[in-house]
Formats: sequence, C-alpha cells, structure tokens
Amino acid sequence: MISNSYIDAHCHLADPKYSSDLESVLGRSEKAGVGEWILGGIGPKDWEAQKKISKLRAGKIHMAFGLHPWWVASHDEGEVMTAVKRLESELGKAQCLGELGLDFLPQFKDKAQLQKEVFRIQLMLNENFRKPLILHVVHAHGEAITVLKGFRHCQGLVHAFSEGKEVLKQYLDLGFLISVGGAVTRKGYQKLKECLSLIPLDRLVIETDAPDQTPEVAGFSKESRNEPCTLVPIAEAISQIRKDSSPEALLASSSRNLRALLASSSRSR
Ligand SMILES: [Zn+2]
Repeated sequence: MISNSYIDAHCHLADPKYSSDLESVLGRSEKAGVGEWILGGIGPKDWEAQKKISKLRAGKIHMAFGLHPWWVASHDEGEVMTAVKRLESELGKAQCLGELGLDFLPQFKDKAQLQKEVFRIQLMLNENFRKPLILHVVHAHGEAITVLKGFRHCQGLVHAFSEGKEVLKQYLDLGFLISVGGAVTRKGYQKLKECLSLIPLDRLVIETDAPDQTPEVAGFSKESRNEPCTLVPIAEAISQIRKDSSPEALLASSSRNLRALLASSSRSR
C-alpha cells in the first residue's frame, strides 16, 4: 500500500537542475510514496531558493540552512564570514542546520583550516538554535568527530554514510542518525555494506541526495539526474543486504526516526 508518507532524509530540491520541472519531480516522488523531503543547504543563494520552493508543499519540504564545506572551500574568508552573519539571522527560519562538516578530498583540502573554523562557528551558533545537524564529512571523520565532541548539542544525521564499523560506532555513541543512500546500489562500497546490519533500526535513515548520487536502479543511470522517487529502490537494496526488514518497514522506520528528529527541532525554538 502506498501511504505517501515516507520522508527522503536528504535531497536538494532547490538545485537549478530542477528549475524547469520541479512540480513533475515532486509528483513522481509522491506517486512512489515519498511525500516529504529534508533538504541539504549549500550557501546563501541556495537558502533563498529553498524559501521559494518550500511553498510548493507547505510543511512537507523541510529547509536546512548551512554552509557546505564545498561552498566554504570555494569562497574567500571575507565572503564566508559575511555568510556566517547571514546564517545567524536566517537559521531560525529553517528546520535544520546543514550541510556542515569537513571535506578533505584533494580539491578542497587546501582550505582545511577555514573549513574547520567554519564548522566550529556553525556548531557554536547552534548552541542557541539547537537545530538538528546535517553533517557532510568526507575523508575527515576523525577530525570531525573530535570537533563534535566539544559541543553539547549534537543531534542530527550523518548524510551519505559510507564508512565502516569503527566510524559508525563513534557517530552512534554521539547520538547521530546514520543516513544511507545510493551507494548501496553500486558495486563496491564493501565497508558500508558490511556494517549496514550494525545500524540499529531506530538510527537508520534513508536518503537520495537527489539530484546527485544517482543510484544504479531501473530507469536511472549514472549519467541521469537523480530524483527523490529513487528512495524506494534504495530501501529495497538495503533490505536485500540486511535481510531483517522489508523495504516498506525500513522506509517506515526511517520516516519515524526523521519525524522524531524534526519534532525535536520545533520544540527547541
Ligand atoms: Zn547533499
């Protein structure tokens, strides 16, 4: 039965790739049973776009404002600090803070210091706002976890998790939800596939990261734009690996976990 109540834990509906046909994208998503979406924020321009598109499905498109490590790495310090000020005045309007974190891939690593500083500043801001965090961390889990341990308010989700047991345990100990996406549909990702069953059901959430990270599922190819309707085949792939729950049960528990997280946000303001 299609209940139309599943939540995509992470996607970018305000991305320009959807500017000409967002209504049909939302329609296909709803038809597949995915009727709510938690967005990931990039920078000020993206937050503005989120405000506009969130009106298309009031109360169902959950906005996230934050400074993404890629955005931080591609702007100079002055621009970044102006954006931090703006985040402080705008964050109250969003349901979540993020994406924030550290990305130490070679193309972003020369800005590692600035990334760390901005990660810390955003966490500091959130000591007042207490919004759920949407973490983007690549090749920097040790550093990110050290930073997170210095803050009291560490609720949220680790987006596009693709690590193994040791890293998983540390995020679980900190209280985070673990968000798994299209990687499970691809060849490889052995570390992730081996630790999928170790994620307690009340900590596992499912995301598409659409329009990025297109999964290898029917109707989509690596070259095609991803859409939130692929949440269902991603859940099928997780179900096949875990073998303890049907895709529907996984989607239902993921959505329950996300609703609880969002409720903690509205309580806090
Ligand atoms: Zn994202």
